[in-house]
Amino acid sequence: MIARIGVNMAEEFDYASLLNRAKIACPETIENHERFEIPEPEVLQEGKITVLRNFIDITDKLRRDPQHLLQFLLKELGAPGNVEGRRAVFKAKISAQSINDKIQMYTETYVICSECGLPDTKISREDRTLVLECEACGARRPITVRKSVRADTANTLREGDIIELTITDVGKKGDGVGKFYDYLVVVPGTIKGSNIHAKITKISAKTAFAVPTTEAATR
Ligand SMILES: [Zn+2]
Repeated sequence: MIARIGVNMAEEFDYASLLNRAKIACPETIENHERFEIPEPEVLQEGKITVLRNFIDITDKLRRDPQHLLQFLLKELGAPGNVEGRRAVFKAKISAQSINDKIQMYTETYVICSECGLPDTKISREDRTLVLECEACGARRPITVRKSVRADTANTLREGDIIELTITDVGKKGDGVGKFYDYLVVVPGTIKGSNIHAKITKISAKTAFAVPTTEAATR
């Protein structure tokens, strides 16, 4: 009996048994190794409102901040919405299929390790880059978000748009010039270093002409 206690004490400081105990202390991780299935989205349409009833069940399973997934969905679906209790409510008519597709896209981008395919990951930040760290295999990869069509059109200027602009330069004719995405925006009557709202009056390829305005930015 005494001898057995001695063995147990030796085991206690053995690295493998310490590791084993650490694993037992987080059973959730082990469970995920065995089976990872995102709960199927339960989607209800109520007039012009769409309710994702088991939203929190999904974020629990993904082990992600509900607000993080919500903001992703709102941007991708182009609809306003919020979390109410355990549900997410979108103020637009959205099909169950699109919600499901976007959750899959989120999972591939922000949850699944591309090395081992397991979901036991966490997001960390290195300088300005988000990194997905795998707790199962130790792999690390930068998170690259696939640009949606919506994001691309967001960078396209149209006449009548009102933008916030910093005048960073002065053109040949003395007009203030600023950058908006890949546009050069020329605003007469402005000075270098000023932050203004500018209304786009004319666009020629990647050069836009604008006038200062006090109106609120539309972009
Ligand atoms: Zn991995």
